[in-house]
Amino acid sequence: MAANSADKTPGPPLRGEDFIRAQIRRDNALGTYGGRVHTRFPPEPNGYLHLGHAKSICLNFGVASEFSGMCNLRFDDTNPAREETEYVDSIREDVRWLGGEWQDREFYASDYFEQLYACAEALILMGKAYVDDLSAGEIREYRGTLTEPGRESPWRNRSAEENLDLFRRMRAGEFPDGARVLRAKIDMAAPNLVMRDPTLYRIRHATHHRTGDKWCVYPLYDYAHCLSDSLEGITHSLCTLEFANNRELYDWVLDTLNVYRPHQYEFARLNVTYTVLSKRKLIQLVESGRVHGWDDPRMPTLCGLRRRGVPPEALREFCSRVGMARVNSTVEYAMLEFCVREYLNDRAPRFLAVLDPVKLIIENYPEGQVEEFDLPLHPEDSSYGSRKTPFSRELWIDRDDFRLEPPQKYHRLAPGAEVRLRYAYFVTCREALVDSKGKVTELRCVYDPQSRGGQSPDGRRVKGTIHWVSAAHAKPAELRLYAQLFAVENPDEAPEGGTFLDNVNPDSLRIAQGWMEPALAELEAGARVQFERVGYFCKDKDSMPETPVFNRTVTLRDTWAKLEKKQTGNGGSGLL
Ligand code: ATP
Ligand code: MG
Repeated sequence: MAANSADKTPGPPLRGEDFIRAQIRRDNALGTYGGRVHTRFPPEPNGYLHLGHAKSICLNFGVASEFSGMCNLRFDDTNPAREETEYVDSIREDVRWLGGEWQDREFYASDYFEQLYACAEALILMGKAYVDDLSAGEIREYRGTLTEPGRESPWRNRSAEENLDLFRRMRAGEFPDGARVLRAKIDMAAPNLVMRDPTLYRIRHATHHRTGDKWCVYPLYDYAHCLSDSLEGITHSLCTLEFANNRELYDWVLDTLNVYRPHQYEFARLNVTYTVLSKRKLIQLVESGRVHGWDDPRMPTLCGLRRRGVPPEALREFCSRVGMARVNSTVEYAMLEFCVREYLNDRAPRFLAVLDPVKLIIENYPEGQVEEFDLPLHPEDSSYGSRKTPFSRELWIDRDDFRLEPPQKYHRLAPGAEVRLRYAYFVTCREALVDSKGKVTELRCVYDPQSRGGQSPDGRRVKGTIHWVSAAHAKPAELRLYAQLFAVENPDEAPEGGTFLDNVNPDSLRIAQGWMEPALAELEAGARVQFERVGYFCKDKDSMPETPVFNRTVTLRDTWAKLEKKQTGNGGSGLL
């Protein structure tokens, strides 16, 4: 290390720079790794990736790219029982979607099993590891507590020869699961409990998704992870805060074996309001049928967010705004929605769709006449082009845009009131037909032919503008309107005797059968649009040619602000 050269000493942190980037800059200035920056994203393939993983992906792939370094995708597949190929495939897809580039550096901890095993034999020969016959329960009991030192296992002082023989027989499959483990021989009185002779290997007669039945001894995370980092030449090993105590063991394993040692840095885990971010809990949501699978658009999984219509760019912006802290905290779900709106506002093409339709008939509009309006796909950016939208005598408008008895300052349609049909004409409501239950069934209006394009013909002003679709031309659409999956800000605060599952919001999905303008039928699944005045939507893979399905990604800002006041004060997106 060239720490003595004064001209290379880095200056103070750059403005807005987080502690990890500051550290990397310092290391580069000091030449700690010869200017190399090499990170890894190490998911365990035992579930689908979620928002929390997005933070780690953005960090690891992000710093690698910012510092012209590399980032590996490494599957931490040391636990044969819970891991599946399905998860490996989904993880690959999700990382790529979020923008992670690992080129040919896709690695598996299981690729290193032979090397990890050899290192374990080396530790045994050094007298730094031993085979222990205590059961898992006894090992826990012998470990002691924060205030009491642990006790040494009666098997701790076996000879290296005996340990080597037993370890080889463990590998050969001579013993059942749980009969013996290999432990590091460190210090049963260490103040850091992680250092009290941690287990390195255990026996598991299980089929591994990649190595099949080749192995029946499997390394534990603390042992496999540091060695995998070392073998791959990782420079900065970034993990979440709960591993801070494990850093001492990380260093011990690599230093004892006298191999290359990266440096582990811990950052705060991402927590988000109204959601849970733990694969174990997400599995329960899927298995209990609370949601319709891992990619249910209400799930905080990356595949769920993708299906909901969240653009990867918005998710990256969210992660960047969350930043890198060294203390855990909880981020507002609304911040993610903010990032999504910001991104989509600039980019989502606009269309007209009606969620809760009521018929509007223009009595003085010629029967059989159809006008085709050429409407801009983006009101502020003509480069988006336009689409053709038919207009005729009978339209659908949203029920919410009409009031029989309008409150003060209600600028939309009401008996006798005049509004602008977006891009089309001014109409005045002459009469509302109501059924026996008082429900409005039809609105009878007249239009001003001079107001074509929604322009005032004589300087008279109308305050309200509402959206519409032509009834004869509109396509039916299923619109899936989502609210927060959990009804409370912290789902883990369960009622007495309950679990987080009891906090699931029973109204998190409402399905509307609406009408949309015909141009929408041609969009591909995954297309993101704005239904003017309604919200951002994404065409779902469940769409059929005759009945497209759209997931609401987020409401529009003003709807959101209004809702927040109207509803219970919860910060989540409401319905409609
Ligand atoms: P879970 O608690 O959901 O099982 P995990 O940490 O066990 O998550 P891994 O597959 O082991 O999941 O994680 C892969 C990487 O993603 C790790 O580096 C981990 O620290 C990181 N990660 C997981 N959850 C979060 C989170 N909520 N915030 C930030 N990083 C996370
Ligand atoms: Mg894990």
